[in-house]
Amino acid sequence: MSDLAELYQQVILDHNKRPRNFGPLDGLDSSAQGHNPLCGDSLRVDIKMDGGKVADVSFEGTGCAISRASASLMTEVIKGLTTDEIETLFNAFHSVVTGEPAPDGVRLGKLASLAGVAEFPIRVKCATLAWHTLNAALDGRADPITTE
Ligand code: ZN
Repeated sequence: MSDLAELYQQVILDHNKRPRNFGPLDGLDSSAQGHNPLCGDSLRVDIKMDGGKVADVSFEGTGCAISRASASLMTEVIKGLTTDEIETLFNAFHSVVTGEPAPDGVRLGKLASLAGVAEFPIRVKCATLAWHTLNAALDGRADPITTE
């Protein structure tokens, strides 16, 4: 394993063990529930908006290391972003975890630590569950979403 792969592995393990922004959000504007029946991942994403931007976000749930680390990393990178910026970021992230190059000009930052998921197609849904759930919260969808 290269040093870089090792580093990325550390990021995933760390976020799984000590997820950031974990727990219910006070004064939330919207919330959504997401499930990945293929793996058994289940999580809820809470968001608070301010002037069209995500002012605060948290998640809570159970699942595999990839789903938890991905949700934790997501909550760290989307604060302060508009829904358009989030869509751009999610599209780039989705490209990378499915083995496609990230579009020019999009900085994935810490999200790149999940790029290794591309080698495990079955894990793509684990890595993207939090994002699909976030989109449901942004859209104000009440029904739980599922990756199936
Ligand atoms: Zn999973």
